[in-house]
Amino acid sequence: MRNIRIFLNEYPQSIEIANEIEDRFKNVGITTTLTDINGRVVNNDHFDLNIVVGGDGSFLRAIKLSNFSSSPFIGVNTGSLGFFQEIDVSDIPQFIHSVVAKDYWTSPLRLLKCTAYRNDGVGEEFLCVNEALVKGVNSKVLHMDVHISGHFLESFSGDGMIISTAIGSTAYNYSVGGAIVYPAYEIIELSPLAPISSASYRSLLNSIVMPGRFEVELYPETRYDKEILIVQDGEEHMVRDIKYITVTMSNVYIYRLHIKDDNYWSNLREKFI
Ligand code: NAP
Repeated sequence: MRNIRIFLNEYPQSIEIANEIEDRFKNVGITTTLTDINGRVVNNDHFDLNIVVGGDGSFLRAIKLSNFSSSPFIGVNTGSLGFFQEIDVSDIPQFIHSVVAKDYWTSPLRLLKCTAYRNDGVGEEFLCVNEALVKGVNSKVLHMDVHISGHFLESFSGDGMIISTAIGSTAYNYSVGGAIVYPAYEIIELSPLAPISSASYRSLLNSIVMPGRFEVELYPETRYDKEILIVQDGEEHMVRDIKYITVTMSNVYIYRLHIKDDNYWSNLREKFI
């Protein structure tokens, strides 16, 4: 690896750590480019590796800012949870050593594609690492028909629907009671957000996990509101004149770089229990 990009957030500890990583790489003849994750213009030249100094939010933002770069990503945790962030500050010397010695491995993450179609037939696409959240606007109850690959499943009423990847299963999905799924699985998890189950409305109350080959189709009731909110990994997009929404696995992958053996289970225990 000769050319490395370091994304960092605005916190003093992240700036200090990013500078330390830059100095350490310079000492072994590797060039780095610092990139502010809050910045707008990003040099999207080829980099061999993307390092993200911050928390999970920074990791997600860096992936998007890089325009879903196919070069691997690794996170150094200066955030609060850091589920994506494999490297602790104390591991930095070992991390530099592993990069120089080419002692690492990568794992793919397949992104979700959420497409919101307007009544004029135009579709707007959102690629998601964690999840797409479909919500009504102005805190209104969202009513929508849910189909799975052409099969009608339910008429949903509630706050919204989280459509999550396996890696996103420990994020928002987990907070609403969804199952945790090991990230190597290409699945789509559908988790209702405050579903209504009453004499008037009957919605499924639990999550559904399905193989990634299925398509989720959502047909919002637009008698009163013709707008819908799509939240792409925490970033809100208002879609006007909505007709329907599809969510499938995309053909886009990002890659995570690892220097440790599979630490998924210890990470899960440390960060959630
Ligand atoms: P954020 O403040 O960046 O993230 C909210 C929390 O979710 C943070 O503690 C973050 O970790 C953690 N997180 C993010 N991705 C995760 C993952 N794959 N596994 C485990 N924890 C994860 O919030 P944001 O910018 O609005 O949205 C980013 C993500 O936050 C969204 O994709 C969504 O999944 C999640 N979120 C969760 C809730 C909830 O649980 N009620 C609400 C809104 C959004 P760090 O502390 O390391 O950043």
